[in-house]
Amino acid sequence: MAQRQFIDVACECGTPLARYRKGGKGRLVKMFLDKVAEDRAKIFHTEQPLKLHDNIYCPTCGSRVATLHMIRGRPAAKVNQGSVRVV
Ligand SMILES: [Zn+2]
Repeated sequence: MAQRQFIDVACECGTPLARYRKGGKGRLVKMFLDKVAEDRAKIFHTEQPLKLHDNIYCPTCGSRVATLHMIRGRPAAKVNQGSVRVV
């Protein structure tokens, strides 16, 4: 009985990054791109699709917030724990 919930992800500097549909418990480790409900900073659903190992940066402060990986065959942003917070 997985409860789906939305969380809001922001950069450490306060810039809203995304609303994300997170499944399961625990801290935010990765964000599957197809579960990013609102790409508030336009950094996940980019015009040029992200490629493997691309870094994803906060548009405001420029810190690296995630890196793109393939997880179980799906593109996912692996979150840089120190620079992202759930609000
Ligand atoms: Zn920032």
